[in-house]
Amino acid sequence: MSAKTRKFWKALKCPVCGERAVFFVTMDAVKDATQYPVPFEVIHDDHKFLIYLDSGLLISRIEEAKPPIASTEAKPKAKSKPKAKTKKTKKET
Ligand SMILES: [Zn+2]
Repeated sequence: MSAKTRKFWKALKCPVCGERAVFFVTMDAVKDATQYPVPFEVIHDDHKFLIYLDSGLLISRIEEAKPPIASTEAKPKAKSKPKAKTKKTKKET
């Protein structure tokens, strides 16, 4: 078995869609690096995000890929809902 094409499988939560993303990296991703961590683009469905790999191919950071500047309007991202009123309407038994 040749080690140079060994695949290192990674699974993480996609920062774009929130679904689980499974992909692999090889040593090729970092072998020519002069400094770490190395950005590595991951394609997930119809979007992509960036991970930063250290010399051991461990993910040190995950970043949402920048969208193209051509977008017409910026949608405000509701990433965290304001705390909903917890009015107790249900009957407690
Ligand atoms: Zn995704």
